[in-house]
Amino acid sequence: MPFVTERSSQSTVAPAVAGLPLTLKMALAIGIWLSANSAFSATWFVATNGLDSNDGSSNSPFATLMKAQAAASSGDTVYLRGGTYSLDNSNLTATNSPWAIVNDLTRSGVSYLGYPGELPVFDFSNVKPAGYRVTAFLVTANNCVFKGFDVVGVQVTIQTNHTQSEDFRVAGGSFNRFERLRMHDGMGNGWYLTDGASNLVLNCDAYNNRGLDSGSLGNTDGFGCHPAHTSGKGNVLAGCRAWFNSDDGYDCINAFAAVTFSNCWSFYNGYFTNFANSTGDGNGFKSGGYGVSGTAYPTPVPRHVTEFCLAVGNRANGFYANHHLGGLDWFDNTAYGNEVNYNLLCSTNNTSLAYDVPGYDQVMKNNLGYAARYAEVSNLGTSNDVTFNYFTLPLTVTGTDFMTLDESLLTLPRRTNGDLPYLAFAQLTGGSDLVDAGTNLGFPFAGAAPDLGAFEYGLNPAPTLKLVQPGMDLVVAGSGGPAGGTNYLVAAGNLALPMVEWTPVATNQFDNEGKFVITNAIPAAPPAFYRLKLQ
Ligand code: CA
Ligand code: CA
Repeated sequence: MPFVTERSSQSTVAPAVAGLPLTLKMALAIGIWLSANSAFSATWFVATNGLDSNDGSSNSPFATLMKAQAAASSGDTVYLRGGTYSLDNSNLTATNSPWAIVNDLTRSGVSYLGYPGELPVFDFSNVKPAGYRVTAFLVTANNCVFKGFDVVGVQVTIQTNHTQSEDFRVAGGSFNRFERLRMHDGMGNGWYLTDGASNLVLNCDAYNNRGLDSGSLGNTDGFGCHPAHTSGKGNVLAGCRAWFNSDDGYDCINAFAAVTFSNCWSFYNGYFTNFANSTGDGNGFKSGGYGVSGTAYPTPVPRHVTEFCLAVGNRANGFYANHHLGGLDWFDNTAYGNEVNYNLLCSTNNTSLAYDVPGYDQVMKNNLGYAARYAEVSNLGTSNDVTFNYFTLPLTVTGTDFMTLDESLLTLPRRTNGDLPYLAFAQLTGGSDLVDAGTNLGFPFAGAAPDLGAFEYGLNPAPTLKLVQPGMDLVVAGSGGPAGGTNYLVAAGNLALPMVEWTPVATNQFDNEGKFVITNAIPAAPPAFYRLKLQ
C-alpha cells in the first residue's frame, strides 16, 4: 500500500532571503548593483605556482595579488587559485609608520575571488617587520569585492607597547564587499575599518585571533568598525561569526556614524582557546562608546543597530553599550551564558568614568536572554523604550524553551551558499511561550507575531521527508532540519486528525548537516500518513 508523507507540522515555508533583516536586504541590493556594472571586464589569475613575470592568464598565472592589481582595471575579476600562499617580509609593499602593509589595495572596482571550488589561504606568519604594525590587506579602494579566501597567521611584532595588527583594514574605502572570508589563528584584528561608508561584511568568520602580549591582547577584536567621519554611514556586518578573539567579538567604539550588526554571532571572546582569560575586554558586541579620555565625538551621537544577533559565553558582556553617550537600538537578539547578557551602561561626558550613568534613550525590542553568569540585564535606567523583552514581559525563560543549548554546534560549517548554518541551538520549541511574544518591527515573522530572540520559530523551510520501504523496514529520511535538533516521526490513519492526536513512531536527531534517517519495523496494520514533527 502507498504511504503518504507529509511535511513537518512546522510548515510555514519562506524563501531563505525572506528571513533576512531589512537592512541586510538593502545591503545585498547595493552589492548586486555594483557587480552588474562590469560590461567590459577582464579576468586574471593568481596561483601558488605562479610568477609575477607571467601574463596573468589561467595558464600563466601571477604569483601575487599586488601584481594582479597592477594589471587589472575597474570591472575586472582576479581569481585566486587554491593552496597556501606563504608570505614573508619580501612581500611588504608600503610602510606608513607605524604600519607595514603587505597588500595595498588602491585600485577601485576590482573583484578578488577565491576560484570556485578551491580555497586560497594567505599565510602571514613570516611577515614580521620589526617595530611595525602589520596590515595584511589595506583597502583604500572603492567598489571592490574580496570573497572566498582565508587570512591566517598575521603577526604582532611590537612588544608591550599599546599596538595591534590587522588582517583587513579599510581606511577610506567605500562600497566594498567582504564576503566568505575567514580571518583566523593570528595576532591581528580580523576585519577593521577606520574610515569609509557603505561597506558590507557578509558571512565572514574571525576566530582564534589573540594579541602578542599585554600591549595587544586588549586590542584584538574579531571585527572592528570605527568610521572616523560622520559621512561614514551604512557600514553593515551581517551573517558573521566571531569567537575566541582576545578582546571583543565586534567593536564599534569611537564610531562617528551609525554601524549595523545584523544576524551575527559572537561567542567565547575574551578567552584563549583553552578558556583561560585573555586580559582583553571579552564583550560579544561592544556596540558604542567613546572611551573616557575626552576625545572628540559627533553630535548627534549615532545610534548603532544590533539586530538578530547571538552572543554566547563571552567573558564579559554579551551586548554592551560601553559608556555610549546616547541611545542605541537593540532588536531581536539572543544572549546566553555571558557574564552579563545585556549591559546598557551609558555616560553623559566622556572625560571620566565619574559621568557613567544607567542606560538612557535605549530602544530594546524582542530581545531574549538566559542563564547569564552574573546578571541578565545591568545598568538599564528608566528613560528607555524597553517593552516586549524577556525582562519586561510576564514570562519566565527556562532551558525547555530551546531546542538545544549545545554550544558545540556554533562552529559547524556554513551552508553551501555561505550563510550561517541552520542550528537547533537557541531555536525556540513550538510550545515555548516566547513564540509570538514579541512586537512587529517590520521584519519577517511567522505565526501571529514575532518571537523573542534571534531565531523565529517556523520561519525556516520545513525539512524534507522521504519514505522508502526496503524489506520489512520502514525507512524515513530527509534533510533541511536544524543541526543537532530532535525530530519526531508521528503517524495517523486520518490526515484530518489534529497533530496532538497523531501517534509517535520514532524519535531521532538531525545530524550536523541537518539530515536524518529513521528505520522502523513496519507495523502489522500500517497507518496511511506520516509526518515529521520538530520540537
Ligand atoms: Ca575591542
Ligand atoms: Ca512568531
